[in-house]
Amino acid sequence: MAITHNLGFPRIGAKRELKFALESYWKAQLSLEELKATGSQLRQQNWANQAKLDWSPVGDFAFYDHVLDMSFTLGNLPERVRYLGGDLLDNYFRMARGRSATDRAHGCCGVQAGEMTKWFDTNYHYIVPELSASTTFSLDASRLIDEFDQSRRLGVKAKVVIIGPLTYLWLGKTKDNSDKLALLPRLLPIYEQLLAKLAACGVEWVQIDEPILVTELDPSWQKAFIRAYDALRTNQVKLLLATYFGQLQDNLPLACRLPVQGLHLDTFNARNEISDVIMRFPADSVLSLGVVNGRNIWKTDFVATLDWLEPIHRHLGQRLWLAPSCSLLHVPVDLTSEYNVDAELRSWLAFALQKLDELNILSSALNNGRQAVESELLDNKSAIATRKVSARVHNPDVKSALSCINPEMERRRSPYSERALKQHKQLSLPLYPTTTIGSFPQTEEIRQARSHFRLGKLDEAGYNTAMREQIARTVREQEILGLDVLVHGEAERNDMVEYFGEQFEGYAFSQFGWVQSYGSRCVKPPIMFGDIHRPKAMTVEWMQYAQSLTQKPMKAMLTGPVTILNWSFVRDDQPRALSCQQLALAIRAEVYDLEHAGVRVIQIDEAALREGLPLRKSQWSEYLQWAVSAFRIAANGVRDETQIHTHMCYAEFNDIITSIADMDADVITIETARSDMELLDAFDHFNYPNEIGPGVYDIHSPNIPTQEHIVQLMRKASQRIPAERLWINPDCGLKTRTWTEVIPALQNMVAAAHILRADAASNA
Ligand code: GLN
Ligand code: ZN
Repeated sequence: MAITHNLGFPRIGAKRELKFALESYWKAQLSLEELKATGSQLRQQNWANQAKLDWSPVGDFAFYDHVLDMSFTLGNLPERVRYLGGDLLDNYFRMARGRSATDRAHGCCGVQAGEMTKWFDTNYHYIVPELSASTTFSLDASRLIDEFDQSRRLGVKAKVVIIGPLTYLWLGKTKDNSDKLALLPRLLPIYEQLLAKLAACGVEWVQIDEPILVTELDPSWQKAFIRAYDALRTNQVKLLLATYFGQLQDNLPLACRLPVQGLHLDTFNARNEISDVIMRFPADSVLSLGVVNGRNIWKTDFVATLDWLEPIHRHLGQRLWLAPSCSLLHVPVDLTSEYNVDAELRSWLAFALQKLDELNILSSALNNGRQAVESELLDNKSAIATRKVSARVHNPDVKSALSCINPEMERRRSPYSERALKQHKQLSLPLYPTTTIGSFPQTEEIRQARSHFRLGKLDEAGYNTAMREQIARTVREQEILGLDVLVHGEAERNDMVEYFGEQFEGYAFSQFGWVQSYGSRCVKPPIMFGDIHRPKAMTVEWMQYAQSLTQKPMKAMLTGPVTILNWSFVRDDQPRALSCQQLALAIRAEVYDLEHAGVRVIQIDEAALREGLPLRKSQWSEYLQWAVSAFRIAANGVRDETQIHTHMCYAEFNDIITSIADMDADVITIETARSDMELLDAFDHFNYPNEIGPGVYDIHSPNIPTQEHIVQLMRKASQRIPAERLWINPDCGLKTRTWTEVIPALQNMVAAAHILRADAASNA
């Protein structure tokens, strides 16, 4: 009998119940008891949804983040929150977001929130554990025990989920440059106590997540694994060591010799490693295979899966466990409420609940024979088959356009130095030109017009008029401010990916397909299901209108192919690189149309290029190669006179700066204000050849940067990059700010530019 289990279930709720409860609690509109009750109901609901599984996860629920939960379990709290009062959850929210619900009312202005960063290569953000040479740990098992007790009262067959000691340390950051591994001897006793406590409560299985086993580990970390799991082996609970998101590669022998009772592998990434694992595996260990994709929304191909799974099942019997490849945290909850997605497309998809059904069907087929689930297999087979040949998925025109891609298409006609002369002549820009990143405040009026349009209260003409008014206002304000290269402000865009996805053929949009990004924040990634085709120009009319309002150059705004790809659910029937090429061709066509409409400056945002980097460094160059190539295909079809900008929401460039230079954009704007330009270190060792606008206005903060501060930042920047190649701009788009913040900040920015120009003139 194959056993079924799950690694984790979305905690946010099918209708984002947790989000709304959290936000009400933070606004003091909900009591702590009510918030806790919502948590408890969500757990109960989630377990009910998983009732058919042999083992359901406990401990995967989190009010904000499961890594922060683990920090609390291990008693690793920074000094600054240790002695603040209130409930444990209050301290938890202080770490998560700088303040708890009642802090402001009590005159407390909050504390510094913990740093947030991405969970492996997903779009989920965790709160980074803070470590230093003096970090101590102490066990607080109350959350896990309470939740285990709750599950037991409900009759759930529960497997407790925790993050393993090595992954925990690896995720943490030391502020004092000390060695994280040196903390292991202090950490292990806490894990031993925790496991002993859980055993005493009657816990049988603990899933211990060590996803760092799919990354490149140096020998000291590999040795630490042996040491850690040797120390944990004496316990009475059984350990299921879980890996996901990649292959074990050279960690495979290590993973197989750790003294645990089970190992979980992600077969979407590591299928080729399974036979090797089975060979090396102790004869009584459990092998858990992630056979349903926990990261994407496609239906599992039952026949193909069973064809390779059946022999493994015959060999392993009940030592074979079946699960999603990773926690279902990364997919939306329920497909059945999606009325926006048509029936055919829906028949190709599976969200979290449907994935659990798939698991049950697969295990039935293994345990009772395929005939036991004959009709399910037939339905699945026909859905898989229609998707394979559907004309909605395969567009011969797109395929033939792809086959015509040639290296010429990636190249600008002349090198940057020649283009720059022509561009500067045509645009007649001053030294230190000023610009912004694209969006201006998304005001209440904009949101209201959009929602009225969606609800049918406003017709298309009315909506377009409202958006044009916003564009006109934005242009007027920029002229008064005296900016040099203007933007239209992106009023008509709800989201920089969705806006384009909605106009492409080959994209679909769910209504409730929310996935947690961090805390109460969720995103709804669009679904790329077919060949990407741009039926008509997407931005040209807006841009022409904006340009008609001013003599200054108007910069057109597009989202780049890599960013659209990285923020979507992508196809699993072709390589990412190919999907990215299709997007690149569609954007290239838009760039071409813009140029022909007289636009002289075009920005192609690649905000998410960096986050697509693979987990293993050895795979970086392959990714960067196709990602940069896609950008070049999108951008480089233009004349020398057309100035191409790109924008990235980070400046941690050191390790990828040559690839960024390879994109060959004429101008790149990046985020640097908060780091005092320290992030420009990369430019010490690498002579970035083109123009660059290091951000001088931290748009994530309500603070207004002063003119002096901006001058000082730009002087610092000019020590590394010649003034002739510097631009002055904010860190990122101004969408989330208000006009009352933006106007004075940009006034100071323009004033700073005048000072820097005067300086330069007097030094000349
Ligand atoms: N052009 C976009 C904006 O200004 C860029 C946003 C981003 O980089 N995330 O909003
Ligand atoms: Zn940005």
